[in-house]
Amino acid sequence: MNPYRMPKPREGVIFTGHFCVADEKGRIDDSAEGVRLRLTQDYLWISRNLTVPLAAILRVDNLNGKAIGIHFRHEVQDQLQSVWLAARNWLGLRHIGRNLALQHHIEAARRTASPIEELLKHVRDESGDLQLGCEVCGAKPTADAEFGWFFCFGVLPIAGVYRWTPVQQLRCRKHAVRACLVNNLLTGLLGYWGFPGVLVAPYRVWRNVRELNAVYGRSATTTLVSLAIGILLPATLLIALILRVVVR
Ligand SMILES: [Zn+2]
Repeated sequence: MNPYRMPKPREGVIFTGHFCVADEKGRIDDSAEGVRLRLTQDYLWISRNLTVPLAAILRVDNLNGKAIGIHFRHEVQDQLQSVWLAARNWLGLRHIGRNLALQHHIEAARRTASPIEELLKHVRDESGDLQLGCEVCGAKPTADAEFGWFFCFGVLPIAGVYRWTPVQQLRCRKHAVRACLVNNLLTGLLGYWGFPGVLVAPYRVWRNVRELNAVYGRSATTTLVSLAIGILLPATLLIALILRVVVR
């Protein structure tokens, strides 16, 4: 199991809270969804896309309490990474007490967390290399990529909702193609019901295709099919609908 992408912990939760992902200056991206993170003895579970093993954390700092920066070694991707988190109160202002509580709890749990090698030993082969299989079927080789689907209903800013739901996973090529197609089909069916959906949905569809081509190599057939179900299909349905109304 990938220690950087664990299932949401149900037991042994020491600390939990609603936080927003911020940048290194502590600014919150308002279009991004908040996360309800969960801290356990060994992990900080942030979202289904990212878990930070406490033993991989190099340091935790805070920007005068405005945001908490967690700097860690991503052994699977072989790089140093940082994630900034900030809590807000019901007025939308920074919840400094909650931010400092998060820092305190992480630092306390880190002292007794399992060593990183303990968490990684199941995914090392005999030569010591990390060997993580596809998170869907277990096959190798894999690559890390993010695909998502977009939903829009109604007209903003009058009345409407829209949401982008990305999922990052290690996948084999077969499951990456499948994820791209399924996400584009969902976006094709649910992304165009209003504004800004009609503008954003085609971009999201194209973004999934770009991710597939960039990470797994270009394929003309999958590119055409996944663009067709995400853009051409809804456009055809819309034109058919309009013609039906007009002809009537
Ligand atoms: Zn697979």
